[in-house]
Amino acid sequence: MRLSRYFLPVLKETPAEAQIVSHRLMLRAGMIKQASAGIYSWLPLGFKVLRKIEDIVHEEQARAGHLAMLMPTIQSADLWRESGRYDAYGDEMLRITDRGGRDMLFTPTAEELITDIFRAHVGSYKDLPLTLYQIQWKFRDEIRPRFGVMRGREFLMKDGYNFDLTKEDALHAYNRHLVSYLRTYERMGLQAIPMRADSGPIGGDNTHEFLVLAETGESEVFYDSEITDLTFGDREIDYSDKAQCQAVLEEFTSRYARTDETHDEAEFAKVPEARRRTARGIEVGQIFYFGTKYSDALGATVTDREGNRLPVHMGSHGIGVSRLLGAIIEASHDDKGIIWPEGVTPFHAGIVNLKQGDSEADAACEVLYDSLKALGLDPLYDDRNERAGGKFATMDLIGLPWRITVGPRGLKNGVVELTSRRTGESEEMAPEQAIQRIAKIYGTSQA
Ligand code: ATP
Ligand code: MG
Repeated sequence: MRLSRYFLPVLKETPAEAQIVSHRLMLRAGMIKQASAGIYSWLPLGFKVLRKIEDIVHEEQARAGHLAMLMPTIQSADLWRESGRYDAYGDEMLRITDRGGRDMLFTPTAEELITDIFRAHVGSYKDLPLTLYQIQWKFRDEIRPRFGVMRGREFLMKDGYNFDLTKEDALHAYNRHLVSYLRTYERMGLQAIPMRADSGPIGGDNTHEFLVLAETGESEVFYDSEITDLTFGDREIDYSDKAQCQAVLEEFTSRYARTDETHDEAEFAKVPEARRRTARGIEVGQIFYFGTKYSDALGATVTDREGNRLPVHMGSHGIGVSRLLGAIIEASHDDKGIIWPEGVTPFHAGIVNLKQGDSEADAACEVLYDSLKALGLDPLYDDRNERAGGKFATMDLIGLPWRITVGPRGLKNGVVELTSRRTGESEEMAPEQAIQRIAKIYGTSQA
């Protein structure tokens, strides 16, 4: 993409309404624009990152054997009356009446609808295990929408639902989700710690929330500092192997890590004092096993081998896809702007032309731009007639992890400059070498 052709409405001033850094930076970098309280338009740069996050979620769900689908945002109230949640959900549910006077709602979550699909089409143990998920907009009429996309009213969520014949199988689905979530967040450059949580209106006993540690987090968390040393990394895992998934769950949940809702001082006191931490965290996901709560309410049963009809065991699993943009920025920024982890960056590298209009500089930039694209990479070329300082400030603000700076002086010596956004370190090298370095970082090899 050429910046002269892009739509990047960066703001010079710090928006007064934004209280936390991720919200400020998303507005300043022209990623989002508020439409009304807690409701945002996603401008091209923000939308691009949102899509990258969605892609990672889809890839990791596929790896775990889960099937993508899509359910409507507007649902009839009938199913919610059947489950008893139409009234129980309270004021957070946006209720709508259609022209025929029917009660509708904008979905805050989809346990009812998915259970209805299941009961209509699945009747036998032979069709299990089954896990279906979607990435779809949700609406919750939050009393205090704030912090930009972190606590919106309309927000994008991955919500998944597992259906299993037995409790044991459903707990395997729970463990499988925990493992796949660990991978998912790490690919986004985040450490998200599973913490024992409270099940809230969804109900059930087994639940963990995934929290990213950040001063601006809304949850108070208590944990054993050893947990921050754990990483999932690129280990191979067979998701159908119950013992393997269980072992990972135990590894990541055996140390004390809880939100304030489940915090227990006496238990916490058993952690050696030097390792006890109290901090704040951003909830970026949650997994639940809730057994037969919805299948009992809605009559979703399956026959087992002996022909007995049994209620299906279920769980639900959510990732805050749009909230993740805020969480990633909270975890990765400096006073100049965002620092995108390579896994989610909107463009792989920026090209800054220090002297637009200089025939050699222009030509060198075109070669870099075309070469990166030929490798399947997505560069952003700042080809505007602007001063170098302004170009650097924009690149730093929007946070591309790598920048190639091209100017007539360097070109005389056959070099350009490759700069890491994270460390600020620059290195001079031949243009071809810069291309190779970037290709290597993103794992694409030069054809
Ligand atoms: P919270 O406690 O933050 O209100 P929740 O526990 O009610 O969230 P879940 O039902 O677990 O939310 O939804 C799954 C994920 O969706 C959450 O982990 C969170 O990342 C995200 N999410 C929930 N509410 C919002 C919101 N208002 N804005 C943005 N993301 C949200
Ligand atoms: Mg939650």
